[in-house]
Amino acid sequence: MGLFGKLFGGISGLTATCPRCGATMHGDGERFECPNCTNGGVYFMEDGELVDSLDRGRGRSGRTCISCQNSLDGGVRTAEWEDGDNAEAYITCPHCRYHNPF
Ligand SMILES: [Zn+2]
Ligand SMILES: [Zn+2]
Repeated sequence: MGLFGKLFGGISGLTATCPRCGATMHGDGERFECPNCTNGGVYFMEDGELVDSLDRGRGRSGRTCISCQNSLDGGVRTAEWEDGDNAEAYITCPHCRYHNPF
């Protein structure tokens, strides 16, 4: 499989409509990236609905970055293994890009 599987997946990949600008997004069925939205533009399919990656950490407000002490509101949450090598979920600080343990 490997590369071939990836290529095949890209060709037959799933599409979704960007909830923000209406553009057609291509993704792997779980993660979609909008070609138009520059501020974020990454969406995740959760329970059949597209969730803006920027909204994903909602309900966790009040958290502050352990590096720069700014609010983590608006930070992007990365799930375990989402990057391929992170065993722990983390929130990327929107101010200094520090990876805060989730
Ligand atoms: Zn968009
Ligand atoms: Zn920070």
